[in-house]
Amino acid sequence: AEVTRMAPSPTGFIHLGNLYSALADERIAHRKKGVFYLRIEDTDAKRKVEGAVETIINVLRYFDIEFDEGAGFEDSAEGNAYGPYFQRQRVEIYHTYVKELVKKGLAYPCFCTEDELSKVREQQEKDKVLTGYYGKYATCRNLSYEEIEKNIKDGKPYVVRLRSQGQPDKEITFVDSIKGEIKLPENIHDIVILKQDGVPTYHFAHAVDDHLMRTTMVIRGGEWLASVPTHYELFNLLGFKMPKYGHTAHLMKFDEETGGKRKLSKRKDPELSLDYYRKDGYHPYCMKVYLLTLLNSNFEEWHDKFPDKDINEFPFSVDNMSKSGALFDKDKLHNICKNELSKLSEDEVYDFLYDWACENEPEKCKVWFADKEKMLAILRLYMGVGMKRRRKDLVYARQVFEMIAYFFDLEQQQEKDEFKADKATVDEVLREYQASYSHDDDNSQWFNKLKEIADKLGYASDMKAYKADPEKYKGNVSDIAEIVRIAITGRANTPDLWSIVHIMGEEQMNERINAVIA
Ligand code: GLU
Repeated sequence: AEVTRMAPSPTGFIHLGNLYSALADERIAHRKKGVFYLRIEDTDAKRKVEGAVETIINVLRYFDIEFDEGAGFEDSAEGNAYGPYFQRQRVEIYHTYVKELVKKGLAYPCFCTEDELSKVREQQEKDKVLTGYYGKYATCRNLSYEEIEKNIKDGKPYVVRLRSQGQPDKEITFVDSIKGEIKLPENIHDIVILKQDGVPTYHFAHAVDDHLMRTTMVIRGGEWLASVPTHYELFNLLGFKMPKYGHTAHLMKFDEETGGKRKLSKRKDPELSLDYYRKDGYHPYCMKVYLLTLLNSNFEEWHDKFPDKDINEFPFSVDNMSKSGALFDKDKLHNICKNELSKLSEDEVYDFLYDWACENEPEKCKVWFADKEKMLAILRLYMGVGMKRRRKDLVYARQVFEMIAYFFDLEQQQEKDEFKADKATVDEVLREYQASYSHDDDNSQWFNKLKEIADKLGYASDMKAYKADPEKYKGNVSDIAEIVRIAITGRANTPDLWSIVHIMGEEQMNERINAVIA
């Protein structure tokens, strides 16, 4: 069993990429009764946001990702086993490790001012070498004990730096849990491990914590791969065994402009934000299925083969994670949503839509859901309940509401279809329809009346006859049906019209038709 973690900074902002790696961490842990914990990396105080921890826990919970330990579990002995889980509350712990490194000569105080550091940088630019604090440019590296003592006595502020043992021409061999063996240049930088205010840097704190919190494996964003040489050296010099790290592939999408693939970007792609999915009402279960499809290449096959099995039973494995880029594809997401929603019961769909409406569309929550039976009947129609095959019309909440809007409010319906026939024909068809209409007709009686109207007005009621000689007719019975359909629903395409009319009632039907004829 593995111990995995998510270690966000408390900015309160998690995007699809974070969710993607968090799900991998959670699955790896929970697949085999391991532990998944939450640590808050708040060493960078500027970026702190109130309520961020609750937000993180709630967002992940919404997508069915639960922590076992860590931040937010302060009240439970079990959940707090290796706490505290806020790095700011662990400063003394880091200090003991910093002292140990200093004692061993593996770290040293650095008194360089901003000014001095920028001079070093200028010199390095002139010398055309890598910028950073290393080698002969690391002027505080070889201060004598007396110089250090004097500086401290004089109250000069200082940071503590690692005394890197790395060599510029050497490489480390790192086995990434996802990408496999990679060679990377050794770290040569004397990086800051403790800042002037006594708070450690992320690199140092995370190494100490991943060790002390018994972490065995971490799946994290690909942007951290470049830091691996630094982390590798930190673990080595601290004398800790390094956990396994796997770096995820970037989420990519097709760029319509260039026709190629590119990374999803915060600025250009609203789909990267998780709010996007909550606002439009994507069912969290569909999102989870979609992310698993992206994460493990064999998930889809497994899920098709065992559609009724709990997806948490899927044998998730890092070996099946994508090494290069995971292609975010909205059509695919939509297909998955259609599929998954078609498997839900009417009540599950009803509850999901109701909750979403109450949160996002309070007016609809009140008015559209006032008659539960009516809403259930509408959903049943769109889900194809009772039909040979379930329909797959439901994708996400906002789309469903737009799709069924005509039952409540034809005015607000965004998508409207126009009549193909001229006004005189439309009026004539609708008058005939009203004249022959009887609310007690069953579906086939009702349709027979449409056929009668077709015959009467020079349209073919029989499709075979129509196909044999289309020139002979003004059209066929489906054109008649379309006129009635558009008048009643504003749409050329809907589920069974007779059923629609029997859900909305005769009165509303006539109001709609009268409004067209008027
Ligand atoms: N605190 C880092 C972040 O905000 C975590 C990096 C890691 O997982 O090691 O993404």
